[in-house]
Amino acid sequence: NPIIDLHDVSVTFQSNGKTLHAVNHVNLQINQGDIYGIIGYSGAGKSTLVRTINLLQQPTTGTVTVSGRHLQQLSNPDLRTARKKIGMIFQHFNLLNSRTVLNNVEYPLLSQSINKHDRRAKAKKLLELVGLGEFEASYPEQLSGGQKQRVAIARSLANDPDILVSDEATSALDPKTTNDILKLLKHLNETLDLTIVLITHEMQVIKSVCQHVAVMDQGKIIERGPVADVFSET
Ligand code: ADP
Ligand code: ADP
Repeated sequence: NPIIDLHDVSVTFQSNGKTLHAVNHVNLQINQGDIYGIIGYSGAGKSTLVRTINLLQQPTTGTVTVSGRHLQQLSNPDLRTARKKIGMIFQHFNLLNSRTVLNNVEYPLLSQSINKHDRRAKAKKLLELVGLGEFEASYPEQLSGGQKQRVAIARSLANDPDILVSDEATSALDPKTTNDILKLLKHLNETLDLTIVLITHEMQVIKSVCQHVAVMDQGKIIERGPVADVFSET
């Protein structure tokens, strides 16, 4: 069974009296443990589609099933719990600048029933996992872009998610740093059995880490399959 199953999902927005079909009757199944790329031009609907996976964006039609649960049928507390199992990272790292790196990673754990000592220990372990063990007392502004993204990745893992959604997470980074972050994502995919949904507009990013890819255009998936089949090397 797929860990993510979007069935006939549409999202429409009203603007200037017109209806915009940002996502237009999309079906998408993603298997546990996959690194699944979603590529397309800006405005294709990638972010909107992926935001339906945790109902940050409510679909206008269709059903969203994650880990076998139909999310639209959950009570609000159950939905909050389900959302914690979906981590997210973005192009802009969304770190708290007035907090240390360690505090940033601890942040998602503050609302959990976990004591301070265990919270600290967990955050430190996550920082080591992303290669930033020595930076726990630093502030985000003292870090490079790649390091900030590593902090954001550590934070996204605080609640032991099953799924990580990466929305253009390498788009602001240089090619070398992009590569390092992609290697880290691959490592997390393999060691934590983390399913990764990776939005990008760069084919090279898809080619270097994804197993499957869907190509979006004007709210629809216009092609999909194993990366080697969708993007031939010739
Ligand atoms: P992508 O991630 O592929 O760049 P988006 O999902 O961000 O595309 O956007 C798809 C379309 O939906 C765009 O035309 C965008 O302007 C529009 N859109 C996205 N979010 C909203 C919103 N909250 N209100 C109105 N229009 C939106
Ligand atoms: P991304 O490229 O990552 O989708 P955007 O800058 O397009 O980022 O969107 C950032 C936020 O603005 C999202 O919450 C999106 O839903 C919203 N948004 C995007 N386009 C529009 C729009 N035309 N009108 C209103 N909100 C929008």
